Amino acid sequence: MMDIRLALAGNPNSGKTTLFNSLTGARQHVGNYPGVTVERKDGVHTLNGYRFAITDLPGTYSLTAYSDEEVVARDFLVDERPELVVNIVDASNLERNLYLTLQFLEMGLPVCIALNMMDVAESRGIRIDTEKLSQRLGVPVTPVIARTGKGKAELMAAAGAMAGKGQGRSPLYISYGEDIDRALPAMTKRIEEKSFMTENYPARWIAIKYMEKDQQILSKGRMADPELSAELERQVQAVADHLKTTLDSDPEAVMADHRYGAIQGLIREGILTREDRENRIYFSDRIDRVVTHRLLGPMIMLVILWGVYQFTFTYSEVPVGWLEGLFAGLADFVDARMADGLLKSLLISGIIGGVGGVLGFVPLILFMFFAIAVLEDTGYLARVAFMLDRVFSFFGLHGSSVMPFIISGGIAGGCAVPGVMAARTLKSPKERLATLLTVPFMNCGAKLPVMALLIGAFFAHHRSQMMLLITLIAWVGALFAAKLLRSTVIRGESSPFVMELPPYRLPTLKGLLIHTWERAWQYIKKAGTVILAISIVLWAMMTFPGLPGEEIERFEEQKAAVMAGSVEDAAAAIGAIEARQAQAALKHSIAGKIGTSLESITRWAGFDWRINIALVGGFAAKEVVVSTLGTAYSMGEIGPEESGSLSETLKAAPGWSPLVAFSLILFTMFYAPCFVTTVCISREAGSWKWGLFAVVFNTTIALLLAIAVFQIGSALGIGIRGNG
Ligand code: GDP
Ligand code: MG
Repeated sequence: MMDIRLALAGNPNSGKTTLFNSLTGARQHVGNYPGVTVERKDGVHTLNGYRFAITDLPGTYSLTAYSDEEVVARDFLVDERPELVVNIVDASNLERNLYLTLQFLEMGLPVCIALNMMDVAESRGIRIDTEKLSQRLGVPVTPVIARTGKGKAELMAAAGAMAGKGQGRSPLYISYGEDIDRALPAMTKRIEEKSFMTENYPARWIAIKYMEKDQQILSKGRMADPELSAELERQVQAVADHLKTTLDSDPEAVMADHRYGAIQGLIREGILTREDRENRIYFSDRIDRVVTHRLLGPMIMLVILWGVYQFTFTYSEVPVGWLEGLFAGLADFVDARMADGLLKSLLISGIIGGVGGVLGFVPLILFMFFAIAVLEDTGYLARVAFMLDRVFSFFGLHGSSVMPFIISGGIAGGCAVPGVMAARTLKSPKERLATLLTVPFMNCGAKLPVMALLIGAFFAHHRSQMMLLITLIAWVGALFAAKLLRSTVIRGESSPFVMELPPYRLPTLKGLLIHTWERAWQYIKKAGTVILAISIVLWAMMTFPGLPGEEIERFEEQKAAVMAGSVEDAAAAIGAIEARQAQAALKHSIAGKIGTSLESITRWAGFDWRINIALVGGFAAKEVVVSTLGTAYSMGEIGPEESGSLSETLKAAPGWSPLVAFSLILFTMFYAPCFVTTVCISREAGSWKWGLFAVVFNTTIALLLAIAVFQIGSALGIGIRGNG
C-alpha cells in the first residue's frame, strides 16, 4: 500500500466538502488548524493499492494571504508539502475559479484538476473542452459531479497515476508585461544565488510575492536575510515607481490584470463555449469577434503588419537620411582636413563608420519599438500571436515570432537589428531563442544590393520571379532551421505558457514614448561600445599588413610614368592603377589571406578568393559584399547603388555562371549575421555563446546549401553555360 498525502483545494462553494465526503465516507477526522478558528478535515480513501490521506483545505479565491483561510491554505501547501493537490474547479464559474488554479501552478505544485459541477455547467449551456484545458495548463483535468459521485473513480485514477510518477513539474510561466517581466528574472537570480527561502518556495514565486508586496512573505524574508530582502524591496519600488509614471498603476493591479488576461486567453482558445445568447458581450469580445475571425482576422492582420513594416522603414527614412548626411559630412570634413594615411583611414572607415553604423540603426529601432508598443499596449499583438500560434508552434516557435521575422525582412528589405530587438515580445524563453537565431535568415535591406547585383547580372529576365523565390526560400529556411534548433540544441517542451488575451485598451502617448525610448537607449548603451570595437577590428583586417614597400613603389612608378608621358586620359589611367593597387592591397590584407586560404573549402560552392574576401567583408554589413567585390575586381570605389558596371564585369569574368551566382545568393542569405546583429543576438540571448553559435551555425547551413546547389547543378549541367 502506497501512502499519498492529498490536499483538496478550491474556491468556496466549489464542492470540496461534498467531494471529500464522497471520497472518505465515515473515515474522517475534524479539528482546527493551530492558532486559528479555521476548521480542518482529514480523511482516508483507498484505491488500487494507494492509500490517500486527504485534507479538505479551507476555500479561498486566491493565495494572497489576506485572510486566515488563505494563510492556512498556503502554509499547508508549503509546510506539509502534499504529494498531490486536487484543485476543485467549478465548471459553471470557470473564469473565476481558474484564478486560484494559476496561482497553484505558479507555485509549481503538483496539481490535478477536478472539474466539478459539470451538471450545472451543462444545464447552463456551457461546454468545456477538458482535453484542451489539460493540455494548455499541463495538468490532468477530470470532469466530475461531486454530488452524485460521477467521475470520482476517474479522478482518483488520474491522481494515482500522477502520484506514481512523482513530482517535479516546472512552475507555470505567466507574463506580467514588459516592466515586471524584466525585473522578475533579476530578482529570481539573486534569490537563487542566496538560496533565499528556496527550500520552501520556487525562486520566481518568491520574486512574484515580493512584487505583490505579500506581507507574509515579506516578513518571513526580512527575518531570513534582511539585506537581500531590502535589496529586493528596492527593486520592487523601482518597478512600482516606473509603473506609476507610465501606466498610472501599481504592480499588484498589473499582475492581477495579466492573470485575468491569461485566463481570457484560455477561454478564447475555445476551451469554453456558451450556448445561451443572452450572455453579456464585452467590448473586447465584440472586437475579437471581428479581429480574430477565421477569415477576416488574418486579412486584418496582414494589413496591420504591413502597416507596421511601412511605418518602421518608410517614416524612419527622413531621420535615417539626416544621420547618414551627418556622418557623410563628418567623413568629408576629416577627408578634407587630414593628409592621407592610416590615421585618416582609421578615423573615416573604422570610427566614423562604426559609430555611424550604431547610430544609423537608432531611428529604425525607435520607429519599430513605437509601432510595436502601440500593438502591444492596445492588446492587438496578443491577438496576432493567438492566430498564428498553431502554425508557428509546429516549427517550435511562437505566434509572436511573426513580428521579428517581418521586421527583419520577411517582406524583403527590413533589418535584423530591430528584428532581434522585436523578439522581446516573446515571453517563452525557448521560442524566443529560436526566433533570435533564425530572424537573420530574412532578406534584410543590406542583402538586397547584393541580390540586385547578382540577379541583374545573371537572371536579368527573371527579376521578380527570383525575388519571390528568394523570399520564399528565406521563410522556408528560417522555419525549418527553427525546427532543427528546437529539436536539437534548444530541445524540449515549450515552457507551460498561457496565451493572454488582455482587454483592448487605448495606450497613453506618454507611456508609449517612455517605453520606446527606454528600449532604444538600451540598444545604444549595450551595443555601442562593442560595435565600435568590432568595426575597428574589421577595418584593421581589411587594411593590414598593407602592401610591402617595393610593391607600393612599383605602383607609384607606374603613376609617375603616366604623369610624365603624354597619355590621352591621364586621370582615367591613374584611376585604373589605383584600383589595381587597392585590389593588391586587399588581397594582401588579413581578410585577403583568410579569403585565399578559404578557397580550398569554398571552391566546392564555386567561390574563389575574390568572392571569399567580399563575404568576409560582408560580416561588417552585408552591403559591403558589393563594394568589396568591386575592389577585388579592381573596379575602384563602388557604392551599393551603382553596381551596373560591376555586374557587366562579373558576367564576363571567368569562374562566374548563373549557378555560381545562385549559390552565392543562397550563401549571402544564410551565412553569419552581420556583426551588429550578432552583437544584438548575444545581448538579447544573454550570452556571447549564442552570438558565436549564430555565426557558426548559420555559416555552416549556408555553406552546406551553397555546396549542395553548386555540386548538384554542376552534375546536372544546370546554369553553367557561359563563362566556363
Ligand atoms: P465547499 O464550500 O467547496 O466545501 O462546497 P460544498 O461541498 O459545501 O458544496 C457547495 C454546494 O454545491 C452544496 O450545496 C453542494 O451540494 C453543491 N454541489 C457540490 N458539488 C456539486 C455538483 O457536482 N453538482 C451540483 N449540482 N451541486 C453540487
Ligand atoms: Mg466546505
